Amino acid sequence: MPAGQDIPTIIDISTVERTSLAPALELLEDSDHRLTFEQIQTPVLQARFQTIGGISPNFGFTSSAWWVRFSLSNSSSQPRQVFIRQDYPLIDHLDFWAQNDGGEWQHIATGDMEPFHQRPVDHRLFVFPVDVPANSELTYYLRFQTQGALNIGLFSHSPLNLTNMISKEYLALGIYYGGFIVLLFYNLFMFLTVRERTFAYYLIYLASYGLYMSLHNGLSFQILVPDYPLLANKALLVLLSISLYGGTLFTRTILNSKAIAPVADRIAYAMQLASLAAMVIAPFVSYHTMIVPLAILTVFLCMHLVLLGLLALSRGTGTARYYMIAFSALLLGVFVYMAKTFGFLPHNAFTQNAFQIGSLLEMVLLSLAVASRLNELKHESSTDALTQLYNRRFFNDQIQIEFNRAQQQGQPLSLVVLDIDHFKRFNDRYGHSKGDSALKAVAGILKAAVRKPYTVCRYGGEEFVLILPSASVSDVAILAERVRRKVEKDTAGVFDLTVSIGFASLDADNFSSPEELFIAADYALYTAKEAGRNCAMDYSACQVRRKEDLGRAEPEAAIDGA
Ligand code: GH3
Ligand code: MG
Ligand code: MG
Repeated sequence: MPAGQDIPTIIDISTVERTSLAPALELLEDSDHRLTFEQIQTPVLQARFQTIGGISPNFGFTSSAWWVRFSLSNSSSQPRQVFIRQDYPLIDHLDFWAQNDGGEWQHIATGDMEPFHQRPVDHRLFVFPVDVPANSELTYYLRFQTQGALNIGLFSHSPLNLTNMISKEYLALGIYYGGFIVLLFYNLFMFLTVRERTFAYYLIYLASYGLYMSLHNGLSFQILVPDYPLLANKALLVLLSISLYGGTLFTRTILNSKAIAPVADRIAYAMQLASLAAMVIAPFVSYHTMIVPLAILTVFLCMHLVLLGLLALSRGTGTARYYMIAFSALLLGVFVYMAKTFGFLPHNAFTQNAFQIGSLLEMVLLSLAVASRLNELKHESSTDALTQLYNRRFFNDQIQIEFNRAQQQGQPLSLVVLDIDHFKRFNDRYGHSKGDSALKAVAGILKAAVRKPYTVCRYGGEEFVLILPSASVSDVAILAERVRRKVEKDTAGVFDLTVSIGFASLDADNFSSPEELFIAADYALYTAKEAGRNCAMDYSACQVRRKEDLGRAEPEAAIDGA
């Protein structure tokens, strides 16, 4: 060990605006928390203080209390005030001693387990003002005791430097949490409107993560619960657990992992239950007992969630893409922050806040992932899985909309019902699988035959319907005949299929509901089947035919039917 490390630097505060106190610090370990400040003053203990060079500066979790000593000098002829700032806010008990003008020691007892108002400066971090008289040198003491990670990060600031730093920092924090609050309300509103559970899971994740972060950087303790230090401390791990639980639940739902990767989903589910257990246990055990298992769970869970994302991505869903981009933003933020910490990137506003920026970006992008998932669900609920045409549910909604529109605007509306001929026989002869291929082929022909605003739906089985807004009787007759011929021609030699078609048109209030219009077109289809199949029938023409038929056979019934 170089000899120089044994001698602490005495920092001259009259020459620096802002400086780390690390080179000035000397530490003394108090493993059973028995030493008092008076004992610390005795020459025996004074001699046991060591510079940071002699002790690892990375304490991690320690059950000892740590005494810290440093000296400041003021070489100018004016008294100077400086602020000593401890950079990490989650220290249970932090005591500070400085001498006043009369040479008496003044004690400030603070820490995140003490009520907030005991702090001399109203700030999320610990800040202690000290006055250093002209041409003097003074020694200061601190005592750190905490169940969590012990990070000693002490800095000295001139009043102006601290004001500048805090005003910029609170602007950044305002943007960060402002973003969270906007997302929270937006997604809450979406959930209340759409009632899709993915929004609820996302909200759990977002709210618990945001609150966790705000407690972690001391802001919530300052602003939300300054008089409840115990609550703030207990809430920290509970919120972390809820955030893990919500994040996992959200991921499993949005990626539909149960269906695409059942084994990986079971593992995620187990970790989700572990998070739930942690949430229940956390308030009743010490922070120290809880934090290590929870930190390990967090790391494994994050890696597993990335794995789920990759598995979903390999299945090629649009939602998985958003999900992975969101996660990458967070990881990139962590990476930049780490690279800064280890000195590979410069220390600036961007690298310093990279983690925060990454997590806000993640939340915004996840919100897009939810929207994308919603689109997928909407698409699935209105699409027929075999033919990828619209399904019957979509047809029911759409025909109602078009019927209302046509009535309001006094426009015609036509409906075509189409059924494959002898399809049961086809299935019996060639098997169900070839039957499915034939259905897809017919669906393809129909899709190619109509353009917007016309729509094709699979009504069910081997029946299809075409909704044709603004199409008059003559338009639809031409279209139906073209479709009939096209199916016959395009399937010739492959499936050899024909179709029977019935159609009806709404014109000048001849039908009073979409159901009536459908029954009419279906009746025309039935007539086409009776007429020998592979033909297209107009409902108004069948009515004439029917009257003629009935007229010849049963004159009385014809009067009833008319
Ligand atoms: P018709 O000319 O009178 O319409 O005779 P059809 O045999 O086509 O009429 P029916 O309604 O008796 O039979 C319809 C058949 O369509 C029954 C079923 O085997 C077949 N089918 C319905 N849905 C599907 C499907 O999704 N896939 C396959 N392969 N066949 C289906
Ligand atoms: Mg049929
Ligand atoms: Mg049928």
